[in-house]
Amino acid sequence: MSRYQSIKELFNESSCSHNADTEKKVTCERLSPGTMIGGCSFEGAIQALLPFKNAAHLIHSPSTCPQVTYLFQDAPSSIFTTQMDAHDLIFGGEDKLSSSITYIYTHIHPDVIFIYLTCVSSLIGEDIERIINTQQETLGIPIILINAAGFMGGVPFGARIAGVTLMQQLMGQKEPFDALAYDINLIGFNASLNEMNAYKTLLESIGFRIHWMFGGGEDVEQTQKAHCAKLNVLIGAKPMGSLARKMKEAWDIPWVEVSFYGRHATSDAIRSIVETFADGKLTRISEQFIAREEKSLNQALESCRTVLKDKVALLDLKGKYSWQFIPMLKELNVRIAATAIYQCTQDDSEKVFELLKGQGMVIRDSYEELEEIIDEEAVDILLCDVHHYHAAAASKIAFMEVSPVLQTSFIGYAGVLSFAHELIQTLEDPFFTTVFQKAPWE
Ligand code: SF4
Repeated sequence: MSRYQSIKELFNESSCSHNADTEKKVTCERLSPGTMIGGCSFEGAIQALLPFKNAAHLIHSPSTCPQVTYLFQDAPSSIFTTQMDAHDLIFGGEDKLSSSITYIYTHIHPDVIFIYLTCVSSLIGEDIERIINTQQETLGIPIILINAAGFMGGVPFGARIAGVTLMQQLMGQKEPFDALAYDINLIGFNASLNEMNAYKTLLESIGFRIHWMFGGGEDVEQTQKAHCAKLNVLIGAKPMGSLARKMKEAWDIPWVEVSFYGRHATSDAIRSIVETFADGKLTRISEQFIAREEKSLNQALESCRTVLKDKVALLDLKGKYSWQFIPMLKELNVRIAATAIYQCTQDDSEKVFELLKGQGMVIRDSYEELEEIIDEEAVDILLCDVHHYHAAAASKIAFMEVSPVLQTSFIGYAGVLSFAHELIQTLEDPFFTTVFQKAPWE
């Protein structure tokens, strides 16, 4: 299958909820004016692959495209651009690309080089595959072309392309010498390394071994062996549904999609993972673990619930974060005035409706309504994406930024307690009362 055909196929993802009951498959994403506000496909692809260890990412683009990576500067890999200019647009930038690959290999000796096509380099018709094949033969390391130019779609679509490309070009190339019965793959997207490590620790304490962790500092060798896991666990990583489906088709690996945000979600996630193994001993160990953790969390949360009772929150988050915090807020007795879904995929929006159960409004179209709702509903705190606190600042209420780049982990049982403490700390932070006071001359 040519790379163009395989991308076309990804537009009709059969694992998406909107395709569940229909005979005629529906295209997942259609570009419409404004789609790029939430980020482009290239951004999604590079976000998915940045956690890769000892990798180099070469963006074949003008110097503007790499700005989308500025929030991920702690990634364990290096980012380069070919800095295409007007001359390259007219005469082609093939020589530049080839010499950039040689430069990267000579200077940082990566285990893998990812080459990203962007809007500009996709349109000028260069023979990129010839360059990659020649360089791969000369240098002896995998050089992987990520064909996710920005105009193809939004962030989730780019992540989907990255996951499937990785599977097609690396997986299945090596066999592990010590495969175990409880080997699982953790597949995340847009999660911090802290968060991925917290998932790993939690599941290891029940008895699982993490075979491959996509989005959590994976390397080439682990990826080549990823096809030998007994289960793929997607953690709030809807765009990776295509990868999981294709791994099921190729190697018969079952998959579950779970969330570890909130007490009930964590217990449900553990149960769904354990269920797939149909192992009595594992079920007994996990039930004991759940009972112990739930009991101690309940005791620890008592004082937090008293402080947070009657507080009102508004959620303006994107993607999976739009729904992941709803169960935690409910658990802490915080009322949700409204949840914005204009930065969400269809599946994320459906989850918001399912979890809200009619409590609180849903903001569909624009952030302009936020200020109005904050005033009408006497909102105390805005949970927002990084740098999206304008509505809170305008309405003079507290805000808490939630984003993978902030490296805070609110997952699992311990995460609920950390979230409760951070919420209380933010609401009581003297910064907000000081900064929202009138100036002496007003
Ligand atoms: S790939 Fe296209 S949409 Fe994305 S940053 Fe570059 S030019 Fe913009």
